[in-house]
Amino acid sequence: MTKRILIAGSGFAGMWSALSAARAVSLAGKENEVNITLVSPSPNLHIRPRLYETAFDEMSPDIAPLLAAVGVNHLAGTIESVNTANKDVEVKNIGGARSTMPYDRFILATGSALFLPDIPGLKEHSFNVDQLSNAIALDQHLKALAKQPDTVARNTVVVVGGGFTGIETVLEMPQRLRDILGNGATIRVALLERASEIGPDLGPGPRPLIEQAFAECGVEVMTSAAAESISAEGVTTTTGAYIESNTVIWTAGPRAQSLAEQIQGEHDRFGRVHADQYLRAKGVKDVFVTGDVAMVATDDEGNIASMSCQHALSLGRVSGHNAAAELLGLPAHAYSQPKYVTCLDLGPWGAVYTEGWDRQVHLQREEAKELKRAINTQWIYPPEPDRDAVFAIANPDYVIVP
Ligand SMILES: Cc1cc2nc3c(=O)[nH]c(=O)nc-3n(C[C@H](O)[C@H](O)[C@H](O)COP(=O)(O)OP(=O)(O)OC[C@H]3O[C@@H](n4cnc5c(N)ncnc54)[C@H](O)[C@@H]3O)c2cc1C
Repeated sequence: MTKRILIAGSGFAGMWSALSAARAVSLAGKENEVNITLVSPSPNLHIRPRLYETAFDEMSPDIAPLLAAVGVNHLAGTIESVNTANKDVEVKNIGGARSTMPYDRFILATGSALFLPDIPGLKEHSFNVDQLSNAIALDQHLKALAKQPDTVARNTVVVVGGGFTGIETVLEMPQRLRDILGNGATIRVALLERASEIGPDLGPGPRPLIEQAFAECGVEVMTSAAAESISAEGVTTTTGAYIESNTVIWTAGPRAQSLAEQIQGEHDRFGRVHADQYLRAKGVKDVFVTGDVAMVATDDEGNIASMSCQHALSLGRVSGHNAAAELLGLPAHAYSQPKYVTCLDLGPWGAVYTEGWDRQVHLQREEAKELKRAINTQWIYPPEPDRDAVFAIANPDYVIVP
């Protein structure tokens, strides 16, 4: 009887799960015995790491030909619930019809979404770059500012949150505003960070370079200051300041997508499901978790995989392989990704590339920017739909980082 691997989500982790499961099934010569189906709203990979940019036509490559090349089915819809006792899921397809799909192994790869805390006006009046639709809405808003009267609020952008996304986003804003409003406009771009220093998770290594970039690009930094309330006209900070702005961009804090709550077992404070080294959910049988929904050790030093593309690309390869391996009676592969790097875009200043969890700076300025461009436009993109070439890089121990 045909066995079913069902994968929820066609992001980095879901796509690579599908490709590596297909590879394992093919190597075992069992293509006729295992059905692999990927469920997501559309067969596209959204390049979330580029959503602070504006090249939207490059940010959702079609992966239908790739999936077809390796024999993976795609179903356009969302998984609304998971019944781990019955081993099935409820799917709402894009037409609105509901159906129940059984699985032998289920891989949860539904990613993350920005968490919006209960701050007055945040949901109604802020923008963000979390999903493609959010980034497009921000872009349309910014472009429409050109038709508004020349006021301080129109000419001011405030980015809330000085982590990775906040830093990359805020450093794009001076040039984006000038392109839209013209060089004659008196623009103001500010970054609000609750902690006493920007990039609280980045550590001291790259910080002086980030500060240089802010100074050179004209970004004003306000630390020890959080947003207290937001309106269409501005933001009030916890330090009592009021900044007039029609554009407040929220970047603080992703959480695992809510479907993860339905997977039994322990969850961390980001809603991620605790997994063992084989990416099996610890609290329930026959369910794998991967990418941003997985809480798993990345090495033997106590480091945990971060909600990042870098980890999702490897986690996906491991979860897909292991789901197939269990069904095929093959050895499972333990996830381990000891090398950790970051490459942070610093706008016109360049970029900074670090290695290790203590983030030692290895490259900066244009050299790092070149690497960032390669990562953002090549490395994280889907491979060409060539079955053999895909299987050559879909193994669970494939090393991605430089
Ligand atoms: C602005 C920004 C910048 C970033 N920069 C970097 C960076 O520089 N480096 C880095 O490593 N990481 C970066 N990241 C993080 C990175 O994008 C994520 O960690 C990565 O996308 C996680 O991959 P994933 O496959 O787990 O989830 P996602 O890429 O979020 O994919 C989730 C998939 O699940 C689908 N889905 C969701 N719910 C359901 C459902 N109920 N049913 C079916 N399908 C569902 C979605 O449609 C999507 O296809 C950035 C993120 C953002 C937003």
